[in-house]
Amino acid sequence: MSKIVKVGNVEIGGDAPIVVQSMTNTDTKNIEKTLEQIEALENAGCKIVRVSVYDEECVKALKEIKKATTVPLVADIHFDYELAISSIKAGVDKVRINPGNIGAKWKVKEVAKVASDHGVPIRVGANMGSIDENYLKKFDDRVEALVTSAMDEVKMLESVAFDDIVVAVKSSDAVETVLANEKLAKLTNHPIHLGVTEAGVYEDAVVKSAFAIGHLIREKIGDTVRVSIAGDPVREVSIAYSILKAVHAVEGIEVVACPTCARTEINVEELAEEVKKELNDMNTSLKVAVMGCFVNGIGEARDADIAVFGTKSGGVVYENGIKVGMVEKEKIAVTLRKMIENRLKGGESIADR
Ligand code: SF4
Repeated sequence: MSKIVKVGNVEIGGDAPIVVQSMTNTDTKNIEKTLEQIEALENAGCKIVRVSVYDEECVKALKEIKKATTVPLVADIHFDYELAISSIKAGVDKVRINPGNIGAKWKVKEVAKVASDHGVPIRVGANMGSIDENYLKKFDDRVEALVTSAMDEVKMLESVAFDDIVVAVKSSDAVETVLANEKLAKLTNHPIHLGVTEAGVYEDAVVKSAFAIGHLIREKIGDTVRVSIAGDPVREVSIAYSILKAVHAVEGIEVVACPTCARTEINVEELAEEVKKELNDMNTSLKVAVMGCFVNGIGEARDADIAVFGTKSGGVVYENGIKVGMVEKEKIAVTLRKMIENRLKGGESIADR
């Protein structure tokens, strides 16, 4: 089991739940916009937010941002070790440094000293795209080069008695990401941050992240995750939870839906989206099936905790495989919510009456 690292009030590692994090894409100097995005991420369930710090003006902004939010903040640093130090002094909860570009050992040691004084952890985040050329020259195997580059930085931090470390090895190639993390997990018990970096536009990023993160989590590798998608980061959070739910790593309501066919009697896609949105905030593990007609609807109803299958005028609702009744189309989602709320309160299921 990995060690526990505390980022603000959030624990990463050990037997703590897997932590979903994301990163703002507003200009950090625009305090208002960055805070808006942090709030949106928090509302979506993001537990830690990373913010780019590319100059001292960003550090000043970060100080103000930190005062206005309770979400733990991570300063994302490339190239300039002094920015890492001033971010720590500005009150961030973690810094991420990239071994590929942070530079000389003494600089990393300086960061470690200040981080240690402030009780701030460091994430060593190695990316295949920005790996130090020397590692690529030294190793024929790119994965070996990536993992060694991260582990050399980790060892350097350990050599100055700094132990508050999270490690990440990422590639834009999902298979490389899996292989690198499998290798990394054998070499360290520091918590591992998972993600496919520069994963691409929506569909590609979702597929790559689902494969790599899902696979690694099933292998019990990874303590925190970030799904990288070009564009609005709020989507990253919902996709991260969908992946974790799919591999049974977090609780949540699973909404399944039929693929639709000529027999479909209701707009399944629209209804399933509506149901998902309505039940999104409910913290329980249940399977809810949204089906287009009675043909497979009845079979799926037996397999799901709650099911609805479409008819011309609305839906037939089942609970625990037993028919509950007919519901008008507009009221289906809210009816399902009430049924689940009733179950959570320990009330009898409507089907048991
Ligand atoms: S549940 Fe009905 S509508 Fe949906 S795919 Fe099956 S047969 Fe078609």
